[in-house]
Amino acid sequence: MPIASTSSALRLSKLAPSIVQSEIRAMTIACNAIDGINMSQGVCDTDPPHPVIEGAVNAMRNGFNIYARMDGIDSLRHAIARKFAHYNAITADPDGEILVTTGTTGAMLATCMALFDPGDEVIVFEPFYGYHVNMLLGLNLKPVIVPLTAPRWDFDPEALANAITPKTRAILVNTPGNPSGKVFTRTELEALATIAIDADLFVITDEIYEYFLYDGHEHISPATLPGMAERTITIAGFSKTFSVTGWRLGYLHASKRWTPSIAYFHDLLFISAPAPLQHGVAAGLCDLPDSFYTDMRTEYVAKRDKTVAALADAGLTPTVPQGAYYILADVSRVEGSTSKEKARNLLKQVGVAAVAGSAFFRAGKGENLLRFCYAKKDDALDEACRRLRSL
Ligand code: PLP
Repeated sequence: MPIASTSSALRLSKLAPSIVQSEIRAMTIACNAIDGINMSQGVCDTDPPHPVIEGAVNAMRNGFNIYARMDGIDSLRHAIARKFAHYNAITADPDGEILVTTGTTGAMLATCMALFDPGDEVIVFEPFYGYHVNMLLGLNLKPVIVPLTAPRWDFDPEALANAITPKTRAILVNTPGNPSGKVFTRTELEALATIAIDADLFVITDEIYEYFLYDGHEHISPATLPGMAERTITIAGFSKTFSVTGWRLGYLHASKRWTPSIAYFHDLLFISAPAPLQHGVAAGLCDLPDSFYTDMRTEYVAKRDKTVAALADAGLTPTVPQGAYYILADVSRVEGSTSKEKARNLLKQVGVAAVAGSAFFRAGKGENLLRFCYAKKDDALDEACRRLRSL
């Protein structure tokens, strides 16, 4: 019997067509095909710190190769609790308030699955990290966009309050932000907290770039503000800090009211975060001195400054980031009627891959922008800067 295409069970979900390949993946593939310099993907190609590698290798050799405890190994949960106290001023009970996850992505996914129902609305600032929006769409949640305004990427508290409807459940914050480099100030977070508390909303914060800060910008975790502890889910990870994007390790802090349910969803998705690698990042958290983080900051300021200078020299007007490791630059002078075309033309002309601005905005916006990632080893970054200047 012929299969009727519209009524057949053999079809994609209704949501599937709305989830398209990330522009970052597409540009990485295009860049690798011509052996170009990839400033599109947010991977630090610097080597992971020695204790992190040693910790993981030793764990593999010593038999820690089976599933880990569902919420993460003891030594890592305790190390994360100490880090939360020391760096974020968050008091976290390692037994019941911390969950080790399969990447920051896994933490975000399990959180959204545990807290929200299909049709719920989540407020997201624009420019946004595409995965945040796509993840919400993939879970049948509705992202509601509130714009940030360049060059400081301020938000209008009135616009934020006006975006709230009876279906709103949360505000998603990414500080420091990808792709804008926005670091939310205490005053801004206090305004946001007042709005979240008044409307009784969750605040989910993605703080994966918390150590990448410039020009005296301070990292503030929204969970530390008055009235925010219970309603905030603080998510962070090791991908960027320890240059281990491939290890897929993140974590979160939440109140004991929410953590068990988030942990059940994480268990359903991943069973546990990678066991031996948890030993590696635990060793990193325990053994690396504070100077590791301050040195990294100094190193990234230099990378930022040289990339900003090269873009400016090339007539690609950069917005100077306050944190993270991306630069949004106005590339009006590059040929192309869309930012995707401009990204492909830039790759063709100088062999440097960047991401189309449209990947970070609602349809029709960001078309003059490209995002450049400067988390590169210095020789590759110097060559990328030379090529950009040759444009
Ligand atoms: N959150 C943001 C804002 C990111 O930019 C990225 C990666 O680029 C991630 C999360 C992914 O984090 P992870 O590797 O921990 O899943």
